[in-house]
Amino acid sequence: MSPDATTTPVRRVVLVVLDGLRPDAMSRFDLMHLERLAKRGASTFTARTVSPSVTACAMASLLTGVAPETHGMQSDRFHLPRPRGPVHPLARVLAEHSMPTSAFMAGVPFLLSGLAQRIARVLGFGDTRCTGNSAADVLQTATRTIEAQRRGLIVLHWPDADRAGHLHGWMSPEYAMAASRMDDRLGSLVRLLDLDDPSTLLIVLSDHGGGGRVLTHHDSDHPLDVTIPVVLAGGAVEPGSLGTGVSILDVPATVLWSLGIPRPASYVGKPMEWAFHRVQVAA
Ligand SMILES: [Zn+2]
Repeated sequence: MSPDATTTPVRRVVLVVLDGLRPDAMSRFDLMHLERLAKRGASTFTARTVSPSVTACAMASLLTGVAPETHGMQSDRFHLPRPRGPVHPLARVLAEHSMPTSAFMAGVPFLLSGLAQRIARVLGFGDTRCTGNSAADVLQTATRTIEAQRRGLIVLHWPDADRAGHLHGWMSPEYAMAASRMDDRLGSLVRLLDLDDPSTLLIVLSDHGGGGRVLTHHDSDHPLDVTIPVVLAGGAVEPGSLGTGVSILDVPATVLWSLGIPRPASYVGKPMEWAFHRVQVAA
C-alpha cells in the first residue's frame, strides 16, 4: 500500500452497471443520456472486461479488484467462490475507512436469496437490496439511499439489456428497447445527482457485451463480447477521453484512489488518475 500524492474532492462514488450493454448500442439506438454523460465526462468505448465475460465474474472483479483466477468466480454459476489469492473486497476496504457501501440489484429467485445475502456479506456490503426486475425498479428502491448516503459507495446493477439479449439476441429490437429503458433511468439518476458537485463521482459501465460468437450470449473472447463502455462523470472529472487499454479492473482501483483510500497490493488495476482535475498535492 502506498499513499497517493494527489487527492480528489470525491467523497461518494455511484457505480452503475448496465448489464450487457454493448458500446455500439449507444449510437445505434440513440441512447441520449449515456451520450450526454460521455460528452460531459471522461469516457471510453473500447474498455475490456474480464474473461470469461459473464456477469458473476465481472461483478466479482469489479467488487474485489482482482481477476477471476484470483477471486475464484470463474463461471456464471451463482456460488460462493474459493479465492486463490489475497482478496480485499472493495466494500471491506471502504468500511475499514468508515465509508458505507450499499448495493441495489434486481430480485433473485427465492431459493438463491440466502446465498445472495451471504455473497453480499462476504463482499462486505452493509446494505444490499435485490428487488424488482428492471432498471426502473432498482432505481426506485435505491432513490432514498441515493438522496441520503453522501459518502462511500452506492452500486446499482441494471439487468434489462442482458435479459433481452439472451431472449431475443444482442442488438435485436427488443434489446434496443431494453437499452433505451436503461438509458431513460440513467437520465433519472443524473437528475437525482448534482453532477457539478465535485464530491460525487458517477461511474457508468457495462459488465460485458454480447452477440460475439453466439447471438444470444456473451461468454466468448470475441471483441463484441468483451468490449465495454466506461464513463466517469462529476464535478471532479476532467472531460475527455479515457484513452485505450482501460480494463474493468481499473474501475475498483479508481474508486479507492478517488476517495483517497490506499489500495491493497492485490488490486491489479490502475486508477484513471488522468480523468480528474488536480486539486491538491500532499507534501
Ligand atoms: Zn448474461
